[in-house]
Amino acid sequence: MTGKVFLIGAGPGDPGLLTIRAADLIARADFIAIDALVSDAIADRAPKTAEVVYVGKRASKHALPQDKINQLLIDEAKKGKTVVRLKGGDPFVFGRGGEEAEELTAAGVAFEIVPGISSALAGPAYAGIPVTHRSYATSLTLVTGHEADASTGIKWEALAQLDGTIVFLMGFGNLATIAEKLTANGVSADRPVAVISKATTPEQRTITGTLANIEGRVAEANLPTPALIVVGEVVKLHDVINWFESKPLFGKRIVVTRAREQASELKRLFEESGATVIQFPTIEIAPPDSWDSLDIAVEEHFDWLVFTSTNGVSAFFERLFAKGEDARALAGIRVVCVGETTAASLRARGIAPDLVPDKFMSTALIPHFDADLHRVRIAVIRAAEGRDEFIEEMRNRGAEVHLAVAYRTVPVALNADELHDIDVVTFTSASTVDNFFAMNPQFEGALLASIGPTTSDALRKHGRQPDIEASMASIQALHDAVHAETRRRGENR
Ligand code: SAH
Repeated sequence: MTGKVFLIGAGPGDPGLLTIRAADLIARADFIAIDALVSDAIADRAPKTAEVVYVGKRASKHALPQDKINQLLIDEAKKGKTVVRLKGGDPFVFGRGGEEAEELTAAGVAFEIVPGISSALAGPAYAGIPVTHRSYATSLTLVTGHEADASTGIKWEALAQLDGTIVFLMGFGNLATIAEKLTANGVSADRPVAVISKATTPEQRTITGTLANIEGRVAEANLPTPALIVVGEVVKLHDVINWFESKPLFGKRIVVTRAREQASELKRLFEESGATVIQFPTIEIAPPDSWDSLDIAVEEHFDWLVFTSTNGVSAFFERLFAKGEDARALAGIRVVCVGETTAASLRARGIAPDLVPDKFMSTALIPHFDADLHRVRIAVIRAAEGRDEFIEEMRNRGAEVHLAVAYRTVPVALNADELHDIDVVTFTSASTVDNFFAMNPQFEGALLASIGPTTSDALRKHGRQPDIEASMASIQALHDAVHAETRRRGENR
């Protein structure tokens, strides 16, 4: 049996612009060959079971020659594997997808093409430049700028005749020649031009000008690659429509120190506001040393089940289903959970929690329990490492509390190399403060944002002043406080 090759466009950078088809295929690939332009967030989606090779030029590594790539795809497919070839943007837009498909056909290997969102379209869109517009451009031409200096190739005379939009890919290094050739062939030196660097990523930058002055402006701005060039009247709309680079926290680098599941919600909020989020430290969820304590919570009858995280919910139901049971096993049991995300994952499994405290901490549950808990059995489903305050209090009130260990959290890397040019570090608990400064005692230069008074006190214990404190202990309030303070400082500059 031979496998199949999928030539997939991974989009321009923003992982949200990956197609559903691409995401599905990546998730079940056996072998993945990744191009240089594919973003790490997308490469990270590769399943642990897949073999991943980087075939494009990356940092220190060299590119694999095209014929070697083709042979690799053919060989792996012939072993019966599902092979994914991931390319930046769209595979058929200056992506050599055509050549690879021809080779695969010649070798008799089955393949499919999965189009991607090309940087040629998404770049201008994220810069607020519509590539066509009824008032300014009725055509769009895509040109490789790579051959700008060769005598063959581009028909400059014909290009110069077009009133529409011209997008040059791979033309950044030839920007001066491109501007020169267009003006030499009759295009007005005032024709607007935009250069968009690292389009659709949190580092996107757009420089605008005219054919006459764009080169100087770009040189001054010291723009990094990849970058594309847009020539045409539509570029004027950048100032009007510029929606992406004007997001409130755009360009900010914000550290989210992890504490249970709040981190992912906080990360999402900051990313929606345009920030780059650095998670610190990187934590992996691992199975507990033994399932015994969780199985007791699954099998025996408790009056209350307390879930403190989505991981706990997943593990509990996995064990329950594995025993051939389902949500009905929880009939008559009162279920509480800490955090809305935890509640949502319970609801998804057919259980509406009886109680969700308005704070993200298990101690917030305490006031909801009776003063006398004799003969009451409570199971707390959570990580091996966690706070015991709630459990102690329940025991003091006479309850029998069972600690069901559903998972462990293990710090995997200190990703300290990402800790540069940080604008804000957010802290969602005293322990995140302790962990962060234990690993980075010398850290300074960023605003420190705390979720509330206890966390602020922890900062002071480390000799730091909180620059930002949320008005209430919620993730949204923390995000809003960071937003307000960075805006205030921006205005005062
Ligand atoms: N198949 C790709 C293009 C590959 S050619 C696509 O459809 O997008 C590589 C060129 O694409 C780069 O030289 C640059 O001009 C452009 N490019 C790709 N990704 C980009 C990005 N995120 N921002 C700006 N330009 C990009």
